[in-house]
Amino acid sequence: MDTSKTPPIKPRVAVHKFSSCDGCQLAFLNLGEELLTLARRVDLVHFAEAGTLDPDTEVNVAFVEGSISTPEDLERIQHIRQHSRLLIAIGACATSGGIQGLRNNANGAEWTAQIYSHPEAIASLAYSTPIAHHVKVDFELWGCPVNSQQMLAVVKSLLLGVAPHDNADKVCTECKRNGTPCVMVSRGVPCMGPVTRAGCGALCPSLGRDCYGCYGPAENANTDALAAQFRSLGLTPQAIVQRFQSINSQAPVFLAAADQVRMSGDD
Ligand code: SF4
Ligand code: SF4
Ligand code: SF4
Repeated sequence: MDTSKTPPIKPRVAVHKFSSCDGCQLAFLNLGEELLTLARRVDLVHFAEAGTLDPDTEVNVAFVEGSISTPEDLERIQHIRQHSRLLIAIGACATSGGIQGLRNNANGAEWTAQIYSHPEAIASLAYSTPIAHHVKVDFELWGCPVNSQQMLAVVKSLLLGVAPHDNADKVCTECKRNGTPCVMVSRGVPCMGPVTRAGCGALCPSLGRDCYGCYGPAENANTDALAAQFRSLGLTPQAIVQRFQSINSQAPVFLAAADQVRMSGDD
């Protein structure tokens, strides 16, 4: 049999959404030309945002955006895990519970009662949790949102059969590499870069503003030293807690940092 004309079997890929704003899925759609190239190399079997629907099918790789926030989310993530060889969590919602994780430290029932005329219609869990709290995750891509080039790098690595590169270094290293002046040193602007994971190319400092930590905690993040630096710049304990309790509020390193500030200050 002449197999030279047999088309290669392409990896089957799905993109699933949980509780999220859809911003990380846009990192795929924003790939432009690269997305067309990618479409020739993988079989995109489920991606609702792009109009392809087959959520229950077996896949080689499932990209998962969003946190687990509803009883339905809980069931669906188990099903996806059972039908996916590799599961990649994308974005702060999926890796740390996201901005909606702020409710974990509040009385969620009280909030819904204040906002909705029929709060009993809201099927929401008490906590917003990352995907890894419920199923095995093979790789986590942090960021709010993740960027297209990171997504492409992950897909290319998977197509080559190698583990994606995990850059857990700090945003400061990207500032140094880019030659960007430090906003904290030069202008005294409180910046989360020293404890935040690299990957964005130090986007905010390159525009003259501080990093607010949207890529989550870096490896070996010295949050005590940064909290002390923030104090010396005049931030109140409450303001420092708010710095750590933002988009990645439920990341254990940032939770512990906020607790430490509360214990040592008058927040
Ligand atoms: S991580 Fe940010 S951009 Fe991505 S889905 Fe969540 S809220 Fe949206
Ligand atoms: S601007 Fe922020 S991220 Fe950049 S070097 Fe200074 S502290 Fe680090
Ligand atoms: S500099 Fe910080 S806040 Fe800005 S995009 Fe990068 S990680 Fe997010």
